[in-house]
Amino acid sequence: MAMGSGVSGGGRPVLVVGAGFSGLSAAHFLTRAGFDVEIREAAARPGGMIGTLETPYGPVETAANGLLNSALVEDTFAALGVRTRPAPTGSARARFVFRGGRPRRWPLSFAESFMALGSLARCALVERSLAPRAGETVREWGTRALSASAARYSIETALQGVYAGDPERMSASLVLGPLFRPEGESSSPVRRPRFRGTVSPLGGMGRLIDGFKESLANRGARLELLSPVGAEDLRASRRPVVLAAGVAGARAILDGLDRERADALGRVETLPLVSVGAHFPEGSSPWRGFGCLFPPYEADALGVLWNEPVGGIGPSAGAVPESPLEAASGPLSETWILGGALFRATAGRSATELADHEILDLVRRERRRVTGVDHEPLHARVSRWPCALPHFTVEMEKAASLFRPNRGNLYLLGNYTGGIGLARILEQAASLPAEIARTGVWP
Ligand SMILES: Cc1cc2nc3c(=O)[nH]c(=O)nc-3n(C[C@H](O)[C@H](O)[C@H](O)COP(=O)(O)OP(=O)(O)OC[C@H]3O[C@@H](n4cnc5c(N)ncnc54)[C@H](O)[C@@H]3O)c2cc1C
Repeated sequence: MAMGSGVSGGGRPVLVVGAGFSGLSAAHFLTRAGFDVEIREAAARPGGMIGTLETPYGPVETAANGLLNSALVEDTFAALGVRTRPAPTGSARARFVFRGGRPRRWPLSFAESFMALGSLARCALVERSLAPRAGETVREWGTRALSASAARYSIETALQGVYAGDPERMSASLVLGPLFRPEGESSSPVRRPRFRGTVSPLGGMGRLIDGFKESLANRGARLELLSPVGAEDLRASRRPVVLAAGVAGARAILDGLDRERADALGRVETLPLVSVGAHFPEGSSPWRGFGCLFPPYEADALGVLWNEPVGGIGPSAGAVPESPLEAASGPLSETWILGGALFRATAGRSATELADHEILDLVRRERRRVTGVDHEPLHARVSRWPCALPHFTVEMEKAASLFRPNRGNLYLLGNYTGGIGLARILEQAASLPAEIARTGVWP
């Protein structure tokens, strides 16, 4: 459902719980459709996991660095007046997988590529379908469709980079199923975006949060910070409620309201992640491109994003380059992500339980493997998210049907209801006004 869909909220009230990306985007579409929106957020600032920290070397992100572009993403940025960074072109788009001691554009050997092609063809011809089966894990699907080693260095690595899950437990139909939906059933917008790939706001993801905040205030929505909501607050609610409080937050609230859905959420494990936004000396890495992923079981980090250099120290420090050419020099900005299901816990501790110096030691070690030389970061900011992402396991696959459709005036929205990525959350948020207008109950 795109903006301007003709839904009329008629000034009817809706409460949104949580002002992370999910809650803010739900509130955005609801206010534009004419609902009277109140947002309550437990923390002192909106944005949830998303935020941009200013450092002497330029901005670093606390979680997401960008969104997968779509026509809806472009419309939303335009509606919020948020400018985007220039789309990366040429080698700046290159993605690598670390294998055999260095990053590689194509991580498979000739024999593996040949076997994978043969396996794909056999699957398509003999089994007549590549679509994941119910209860099939990513490991099982990859072995069936591509062969074990080809799957490990391609699909398993790519999925681990996004979902941070264990391929032996992740549900193939939850994470790959949408790719196999027949045309027409797809929830993707029909209109094509101006370009395919990741899009980031100029100045960082914090600008997107500010854009939501300003636009919501201009349209009369009320944002209450330091205002946690409990089941008791909602028991007597006389308006539809969008629960956008993450897996753990939603589970705690539903516990007192909807036992079945609380139990379903109880079956969703959450994965801890650590994000390290760091700057390294100019010229300290020979690699340029989007970033590099590490295969499951072979590293402490899940991957690194190579951000555009930000123009050095001094008066221009922190300025985001207007064009890739302008960004040709300066300290190297990198985002390292650690944690997830396969993190090799140090003395039983998860990544979020490690001290800053332990995390930075791991980053330095992994970076040395990639660049071949050891460099101390000029600066680093560590963000810890103990319940960052749902683990899209086969057990979650069984519970997922209970998250949607919504019922009882409680509408669940988050990275567990339809996909981790912000673009998927935005799509779901855009469909909420019509759903609430159709099924919401007011006295
Ligand atoms: C390190 C990292 C990197 C990522 N990179 C990307 C990326 O590049 N691209 C991408 O698309 N996605 C990325 N993601 C995923 C994306 O950031 C998340 O899926 C998304 O931010 C989740 O938003 P949310 O609003 O659902 O949850 P949250 O951000 O967790 O927000 C939930 C909010 O609800 C509030 N809350 C909880 N309980 C209550 C309560 N009882 N009452 C009131 N408020 C409550 C919380 O305080 C919080 O503000 C990344 C995630 C991480 C951790």
